[in-house]
Amino acid sequence: MQIAPQPSFIRQPAGARDRPALVLNADYRPLSYMPLSLWPWQEAVKAAFLDRVVVISEYDEVVRSPSMEIRIPSVVVLKDYVRPARHAAFTRFNLFLRDEFACQYCGSRGEMTFDHVLPRARGGRTTWDNVVAACGPCNLHKGSKTLRQAGMRLRKPPQEPSPGELQNIGRKFPPNHLHDSWMDFLYWDAELDA
Ligand SMILES: [Zn+2]
Repeated sequence: MQIAPQPSFIRQPAGARDRPALVLNADYRPLSYMPLSLWPWQEAVKAAFLDRVVVISEYDEVVRSPSMEIRIPSVVVLKDYVRPARHAAFTRFNLFLRDEFACQYCGSRGEMTFDHVLPRARGGRTTWDNVVAACGPCNLHKGSKTLRQAGMRLRKPPQEPSPGELQNIGRKFPPNHLHDSWMDFLYWDAELDA
């Protein structure tokens, strides 16, 4: 969501730089888990100023204009519900996310590359069901061979994930920094043992 630029009446207060606001949809769920929907403080303040969000939690820090003083929001809720996308965008990030940042051949994590299951040289296409995350060594070993020729197996058949599936996977990978005021609205791994 883009917020139109507003008059630059707000000065950058010390310490405000690292005060992002968690952005919740009108149903009080995060707009997205991965990456976690966060706005820089300027955007959150603008949105509050324009009455596009309800501020439900704030930081201690304030920003000042000549005429007003606003505490920096730490959690905001959109007033208008944003309908989730029907299809997950086919992006590098989403593909890694679908595969949980793990090599689909050996399961290792770390530096990932993309591998065409049916090599492009053999007509393989760049689609959800033909591209997987692979570590360097596995990718090198497979080369332009088919699975059978390379004697390799996939851990699971690659397919297009739904946006909801991606969100659920994203919940397994919380960002490094989570502000206390966000916790009531986040459910990292919460349902897995239910
Ligand atoms: Zn591997």
